[in-house]
Amino acid sequence: MANYFALGGVTLFMKVNSSIRAFCRKTLHAAGSSALAFTGILLLTSAAACSQNATEKPPSSQLNQEESTRLELLLTWDGKPFDLTEEAWQEQLSEQAFYVLRKQGTERAFTGSYNSNKASGTYACAGCGLLLFSSDTKFDSGTGWPSFYKPEGPNHVGETQDNRHGMQRTEVHCNRCGGHLGHVFPDGPRPTGLRYCINSVSLQFFPDPE
Ligand SMILES: [Zn+2]
Repeated sequence: MANYFALGGVTLFMKVNSSIRAFCRKTLHAAGSSALAFTGILLLTSAAACSQNATEKPPSSQLNQEESTRLELLLTWDGKPFDLTEEAWQEQLSEQAFYVLRKQGTERAFTGSYNSNKASGTYACAGCGLLLFSSDTKFDSGTGWPSFYKPEGPNHVGETQDNRHGMQRTEVHCNRCGGHLGHVFPDGPRPTGLRYCINSVSLQFFPDPE
């Protein structure tokens, strides 16, 4: 795969994320539907779904061919890994992000920028930009790390057994680039009962438009 960052992925993601969500909200409002109707759905799917009752075209139709192709790379994972050399990751990421994402590190509790973030929006992988979590499933766990009860996207978040530090935990990572995100524990709130305990530095937040 071509270098994701060379494709201008994050910029495009922001553009599309904002426009599609704004479009969906507008359409659902017009239809008198609850915003809950489309929470947790992939953005592209949302656009397709909510456009069914719309009288105007969704914003994705405003993208040119090149942008559409790049968007597909971002949001719909084709199962292919996003591989960079260790040197390239080091160049791409901050020291802290490299330590957490590529070396399975952990940021100190209550130090991450998203722990107390209550804004509405989307959390993507800080390594490759893949959609990972939504603010709709974020909750205050009191642990000092951003916590979610459900990931977004089919198979975007992978799991491995982590027996380090004398504990048996389930590690979670971005399935596309393999970047370490955090751990998942079976003590979360309803409806899943799961707590995805995620390092802020592994995430990139894209706020919803005002
Ligand atoms: Zn990733």
